[in-house]
Amino acid sequence: MQIFKNIKSLQYFLAEERQKKRSVGLVPTMGALHEGHLKLLNQSQKENDITVCSIYVNPAQFNNTDDLKKYPRDLDHDQFLLEKQACDVLFSPSDKEMYPEGNLNGIKLGFGKLEQVLEGKFRPGHFSGVGIILSKLFHIVNSDKAYFGQKDLQQCSVVRKLIEELFFSTQLVIVPTVRENNGLAMSSRNTRLSEKGKDLAANLYHAITKVKNLIEEGEKIEVARQAGISTLKEQPKIRQEYFEVIDKRDFTTAADITPKSEIAVCVAAFVEEVRLIDNVLVFS
Ligand code: AMP
Repeated sequence: MQIFKNIKSLQYFLAEERQKKRSVGLVPTMGALHEGHLKLLNQSQKENDITVCSIYVNPAQFNNTDDLKKYPRDLDHDQFLLEKQACDVLFSPSDKEMYPEGNLNGIKLGFGKLEQVLEGKFRPGHFSGVGIILSKLFHIVNSDKAYFGQKDLQQCSVVRKLIEELFFSTQLVIVPTVRENNGLAMSSRNTRLSEKGKDLAANLYHAITKVKNLIEEGEKIEVARQAGISTLKEQPKIRQEYFEVIDKRDFTTAADITPKSEIAVCVAAFVEEVRLIDNVLVFS
């Protein structure tokens, strides 16, 4: 595996690969890799000649400095996992490389309604930071395809909008969520949970699945949503931030949903002070 910390040398390498007519897949991550990330990597490897995995904990997308400080980092182990899976390229730049002016707030991006609901509402500035770092990565790597997890469903909509509005030529590929045996969505943040916390956190998945099943059985959306909220409330150690049923195309909430909507049930909650998100698609 080739490892680059420098933009220019990565671009030089990729230009040579392009001359050989090799297609390039990009898997952007913040490291502390797990099987979810590796599934994205695996799909990219199947669909492209060269796969670039980027590992960069992007300060501009953290609206909470404590969250940034506590974000798990283990580059040596990540490198080991990537080598084991025969990843072609690891790009792990420094802050100085990605923000040479040292100014995280130099440019802001807006995503309209997407920023007013769920993750957008509860993490102000988060999607602007995501949009900026992905714009940088798309420019640097100029990938044919870029891989993102359904686990971050709203982020997928942000990426779709970013690609459309800024005319990036990369194709968005969305990969289903990889889960632990108990249903808990894999996440780098899970490393901060105790074993008990991981069991408790699986209730997020159970609650959203209950809502999915109720809606599929014909229950009214709001009734189903309230049932999910109540189920999760039975666990006093889980602090819910939001629990919404949305149309995944534009993230309008339950009240606006029509029979043609592509429905998803989304939750964000704190377990042992760790903020977790999850979602499931309804009728799919
Ligand atoms: P992160 O390192 O958390 O920023 O995630 C990098 C990419 O991996 C994002 O596109 C995530 O949506 C995706 N991802 C994270 N967790 C999972 C998972 N459990 N299953 C599938 N994809 C995931």
